[in-house]
Amino acid sequence: MPHPVPSLWAATAVPAPETPPLRGANRADVAIIGAGFTGLSAALKLAEGGAEVTVVDSHAPGFGASGRNGGQVIPGLKYDPDTLDRLYGEATTDFAGRTAETTFGLIEKHAIACEPMRKGWIQASLKTSHLPTLEGRMRQWQARGAPVEMLDAAQMAARTGSQSFAGGWLDGRAGSLHPLSYARGLAQAAIAAGAKIYGDSEASALKRSPEGWTISLASGASLEAREAIVATNGYTGPLWPKLKATVIPANSIQVATVPLPEALLAEILPERMVVSDSRRITNYFRIGPGGRLMMGGRGSFSEPEAPADYRRIIAAMHRFFPQTRELALDYFWAGRVAMTRDHLPHIHQPFENLTMALGYNGRGVALASALGQAIGAHLLDRTSPLPLKLTEIDPMPVHGLHPIYASAMISYYRLRDALES
Ligand SMILES: Cc1cc2nc3c(=O)[nH]c(=O)nc-3n(C[C@H](O)[C@H](O)[C@H](O)COP(=O)(O)OP(=O)(O)OC[C@H]3O[C@@H](n4cnc5c(N)ncnc54)[C@H](O)[C@@H]3O)c2cc1C
Repeated sequence: MPHPVPSLWAATAVPAPETPPLRGANRADVAIIGAGFTGLSAALKLAEGGAEVTVVDSHAPGFGASGRNGGQVIPGLKYDPDTLDRLYGEATTDFAGRTAETTFGLIEKHAIACEPMRKGWIQASLKTSHLPTLEGRMRQWQARGAPVEMLDAAQMAARTGSQSFAGGWLDGRAGSLHPLSYARGLAQAAIAAGAKIYGDSEASALKRSPEGWTISLASGASLEAREAIVATNGYTGPLWPKLKATVIPANSIQVATVPLPEALLAEILPERMVVSDSRRITNYFRIGPGGRLMMGGRGSFSEPEAPADYRRIIAAMHRFFPQTRELALDYFWAGRVAMTRDHLPHIHQPFENLTMALGYNGRGVALASALGQAIGAHLLDRTSPLPLKLTEIDPMPVHGLHPIYASAMISYYRLRDALES
């Protein structure tokens, strides 16, 4: 089935595995709702451990953010390591530092064809005043043995091909992949390990049953399971009371140019690192399939439709890379990230046999892959610890108004970013 979003990824991904709709009455040890990185990685771990796993998705593996993102594989959480140690303990920091390694390890173990490259991620700063913060972050990871370094303005110009940056730090643990091919490859690996994955299978209700859980599908099919995992992130609907109100679904948007001419390919990101900037409202960029420059950033809260809805990131691309001003753009697309109040992902277990993980705040390629593995390991063997503390489902007040207050916050952050530039 073609991916419904006409992105650069959809145009260049490996074929999708067969995931027919679920029909009739079914049962499994573990039912997983959502076939993104979280659900698929958990399914793979559980199936490898001998559990009977069934995954359902409203559309297909990689339909959500997992098949649309920037493909930047970045370790860490939004908080710096010393803060993570203090708030959550060293095991959480260690987990966060290893998420990229876990992701590349999964790709290697299952020979997933998704163009993995481990060339590093640069967090770039437009302003010298941000550099001490970046240096502090770099030093904290360096103290924990990570291959990281600071880059000055000249090094940034050489590594990125842009004169815009005052400096940055390079994280050698990070890299890139083709996200839709990776999602499909994870699905294929899970199927090969014995998991069943069904597309066009929207879960419309999740209810307790004597056996564990009954999932009713919009189509009338049903699934009984001892354990259930909800992995719906920015696409979370009304399946479980108040879960949707724990996250703000925000659009992240991307564009990709026509293939760059040879001279620009040698000049822009010549070592194929991936980059995001350190402002509050971030832009991120990389070279994608076919040698195209991809630029991403925060969109509006309504789904972008016209090319004009992408004007901010196009302007950012032209600011960072004036040499691309004359290049046409071939692809425009968007997907939903799930923002949380504390900028951290959350795991909830309202019942011992019901696990929910969501809220990656736009940084979930490595994190969701690693968290899915950890959740799978935990459900196979309860002595295997979860890397994050469980939290209560804590809905945001007046969540229904989120497009209004979140848009206001974004405008405020953009203004502060602009005033600082
Ligand atoms: C444009 C964009 C760029 C990004 N760039 C990066 C990046 O470069 N690096 C990075 O680390 N992170 C990035 N992210 C974030 C990252 O993609 C996500 O954090 C990650 O993919 C989340 O995975 P997930 O499995 O939790 O959710 P998703 O991939 O969103 O999957 C959720 C799935 O749940 C399904 N679903 C929802 N409700 C139901 C239901 N009732 N029944 C059945 N199925 C249901 C949906 O169809 C969907 O497939 C980006 C995100 C976007 C949108």
